[in-house]
Amino acid sequence: MSSDQLRATQLDLKKLYDELCAAGLKLDLTRGKPAPEQLDLSNELLSLPGEKYKADDGTDTRNYGGIKGLPELRSIFGELLAVDPDNLIAFGNSSLELMHDLTAFALLTGTPDSDGPWHGQKVKFLCPAPGYDRHFAITENYGIEMIPVPMLPNGPDVDVCAELTANDPSIKGMWAVPTYSNPTGVTFTEEVTRGLLSMPAAPDFRIYWDNAYAVHTLVDAPPTPLPVIEMAAEAGNPNRVYVLGSTSKITFAGAGVSFFGSSQANVDWFTKHLSFKTIGPDKVNQLRHAMFFGDADGVRAHMARHREILAPKFQMVLDILSDRLAESKVATWSEPEGGYFINLDVLDGAAKRTIQLAKDAGIALTGAGSAFPYKTDPYDRNIRLAPTFPSTDDLRVAMDGVSTCVLLAATETLLGKS
Ligand code: PMP
Repeated sequence: MSSDQLRATQLDLKKLYDELCAAGLKLDLTRGKPAPEQLDLSNELLSLPGEKYKADDGTDTRNYGGIKGLPELRSIFGELLAVDPDNLIAFGNSSLELMHDLTAFALLTGTPDSDGPWHGQKVKFLCPAPGYDRHFAITENYGIEMIPVPMLPNGPDVDVCAELTANDPSIKGMWAVPTYSNPTGVTFTEEVTRGLLSMPAAPDFRIYWDNAYAVHTLVDAPPTPLPVIEMAAEAGNPNRVYVLGSTSKITFAGAGVSFFGSSQANVDWFTKHLSFKTIGPDKVNQLRHAMFFGDADGVRAHMARHREILAPKFQMVLDILSDRLAESKVATWSEPEGGYFINLDVLDGAAKRTIQLAKDAGIALTGAGSAFPYKTDPYDRNIRLAPTFPSTDDLRVAMDGVSTCVLLAATETLLGKS
């Protein structure tokens, strides 16, 4: 377009934008929360475990103890996360809490492979970006230096990661969401996975393998989880990987069960430290989850019901983006096969402005840069869309409005450059 054509287009878009603002919307696309209808799918949990309180092995779930969690639930999720149930613990309602504690315990005491506490040394983590803001918040909170590494369509750039870890022993950790990554939707390939598990690194380098979306598919079947703990051992790095997961987006986001799996040495180390902060997890909640699912197929069947609710919402967002933005080529977006997000990249330099325009029109989007370490998007182009929580009607209105904002911000960026 010539500058004149752009200015004419901008005038039309301004009219649309003024109408949008006049509509007085109050819509929220910020966080990847399950919608109320998704939570309803698990309402049976509210009346479980009923009168039952004994676990399969006779454990009285009402009482103290059992720091590793109930075996029947560990066996169901061991299958889904590809972890031997003996090496998997079931804990409280939040896997983020486990990731926080894994980091805090290492800072305070060091890992089984550390010379001493991480605290007091320079500690750095690799952060595939865009990535999950709450991961980055943990490391930022403790002053751990975050090194962004590029996220490619098949997973993090292994060559970049290996070059960094081989030459810098202060790199002690890496954040990773291997299935339907937050927010890109990328699933790591086996080749990338092997590369990360085998690359040279400090002995106490740990990959936080946060498989939060292992079963959250929008297509017929999720990718088969890789047995990363065994693969790490085969690669000569038996303690490298921490597998994490939870039922937060399977049952109740605020009242689910979290999981941690790793080598025997890491599990022993972690449970030893955990046992100073609790005598054991909420086993009644674990029992009702085990009863609710029955087995791993029960979880898969349950996820198919989530998919029925979510797939049309994702499709609608993709259709609106395509209708409104494809022709002008001012944005690209992911078409995820699972997970909770659509990753939208607008013109370089236009994300903050797009998000501000949307905010002023009553549509809340995740803050600019929030998918990057230190909230700094080097290109100011990334926007994370979370389509799960709003109703279909709200989502339609919000996405149409967001598209107007993307286009308007694009004209401003382009005219600013011309
Ligand atoms: N990991 C990832 C990648 C997530 O997207 C989320 C939720 N947004 C979590 C962890 C949080 O999990 P939990 O509820 O188990 O703490």
